[in-house]
Amino acid sequence: MKISIRDNLLDIEEKINKALIRAGREGEKVHLIAVTKTVDVDRINEAIRLGITDIGENRVQELVKKYDIINDKVKYHMIGHLQTNKVKYLIDKVSLIHSLDRMSLAKELNKRAQKHGIIIDTLVQVNVADEESKFGLRVEEVIPFIEDVQDYEHIRIKGLMTIAPFVEDKEEVRWVFRRLRQLSEEIKGRGYENVDMEFLSMGMTNDFEVAIEEGSNMIRIGTAIFGERK
Ligand SMILES: *Cc1c(COP(=O)(O)O)cnc(C)c1O
Repeated sequence: MKISIRDNLLDIEEKINKALIRAGREGEKVHLIAVTKTVDVDRINEAIRLGITDIGENRVQELVKKYDIINDKVKYHMIGHLQTNKVKYLIDKVSLIHSLDRMSLAKELNKRAQKHGIIIDTLVQVNVADEESKFGLRVEEVIPFIEDVQDYEHIRIKGLMTIAPFVEDKEEVRWVFRRLRQLSEEIKGRGYENVDMEFLSMGMTNDFEVAIEEGSNMIRIGTAIFGERK
């Protein structure tokens, strides 16, 4: 069966709108990041023609490769674990890094951003469910981390990101999204200078509707747009 990116996007849009209504957030904007890892450039271009404005990659090499071909037709999001020694390749290409999770990375991002004369936008990745296999700070580490990052003038923290555990019953991960939302409210209340909690990046193919019900305004969707990855 041929996958229709157009039908998939329409279906996702409808689900987003319904979830917003259930959450009493009708008409609010949810940023849709099309996750294009392993997806070829032709299909990415098709998605762009259909209205996609933001794409997400989890590997630096693949992001840079696609950037060189597709260029500034879209915004690029780094959604995967970021090795410090690869920062230099993407610092001038990404519009948002979703995976800030340690001081050594903050330091390198700050240094490279300074070199380019830019301020790099980031999200702090939080391992809400404290899963062994996942990157990200534990909930209780986030506020001290943000306070430390205050010293870096070339980094702006724009919100939080999490990857929920993969479960069959989505209700099982509702608490994860709720917890991240609470944490972002708490941080907002503290009024840090280089921090604005504009984005809550949570929700993937399996769980984006629940994430939106719990306050997500940025979802990262691969499979539901492009089909199963090989
Ligand atoms: C692959 C990936 C996604 C998208 O996953 P799907 O289940 O295909 O929608 C979202 N976020 C991150 C960090 C990913 O690595």
